[in-house]
Amino acid sequence: MTSRYPQSPTVVLTGAASPRGIGQATANYLAERGWNVGVIDLDDSESKTVAQTIAATYGVKAFGVGADVVDDSAVRAAFDVLESELPQVVALVNLAGVSSPDPYLEVSTEEWDRVIGINLTGVHHVTRRAAQTMARHGVGRIVSLSSVSAQRGGGTYSKAAYSAAKAGVIGLTRAAARELGAFGITVNAIAPGPIDTDIMGGPLTEERKRRMAADGVLDRIGEPRDVAAAVSYLISEDAGFVTGHTLNVDGGLYMH
Ligand code: NAD
Repeated sequence: MTSRYPQSPTVVLTGAASPRGIGQATANYLAERGWNVGVIDLDDSESKTVAQTIAATYGVKAFGVGADVVDDSAVRAAFDVLESELPQVVALVNLAGVSSPDPYLEVSTEEWDRVIGINLTGVHHVTRRAAQTMARHGVGRIVSLSSVSAQRGGGTYSKAAYSAAKAGVIGLTRAAARELGAFGITVNAIAPGPIDTDIMGGPLTEERKRRMAADGVLDRIGEPRDVAAAVSYLISEDAGFVTGHTLNVDGGLYMH
């Protein structure tokens, strides 16, 4: 098989500015393995700082731009900038997301729309913009963060709006995989169980971690690195026959 990957590929990650988040850990993990890195997060200067640190640490090219993934034109503008600053974009990782613990009987229309807007429509905006470039090059890898919450109907921290959005990510992943396969683009989702970040209402206490781990079959909750390693595989050239898949990184929380 002849390689379609350029010598020096770029991965764009949304939601990679949060210091203890999965996105920043994944950006570092991939840069360490030679990927150039584009960062899209809400705050422009935080996105740029993360990128500058990555470039200085790993000697790759990196650039950050601020954009709200809910805003399609802002996403397109940010992507244009990343493409002008960085080598060919081969991979996109959709990590930008928010939690939502509101009980179903109480969730407001505003909260519902906010969560669906960021966690599902935002994924669509960035995915389609990235796919347009990838289709032109005839190669691409797209990975989006779903959640075990989509599969089990919540049960970790977030509730219905989050579960619905993350289930939507799985549907979008499969539909996009079907349409984009002809262009050499694979589209996959990762469904993590609880990962030790600040998204579930702030830093997790040892007691909360212990309770969350008790539902799975391993004696711990996940670390950002567990997800980073899965992303690294799914965006590799060798994962080219895996598409439309949801990879559970959840310590056995959901087996089916
Ligand atoms: P985090 O809060 O540390 O990171 C989320 C990032 O998304 C932040 O950098 C934030 O600024 C960014 N973001 C939020 N809204 C945005 C918007 N509108 N536009 C652009 N960027 C925006 O959370 P995390 O735990 O690292 O989560 C990363 C992804 O993994 C999320 O999609 C989350 O739903 C998913 N996930 C997390 C867990 C977990 O237990 N931590 C489990 C399953 C899935």
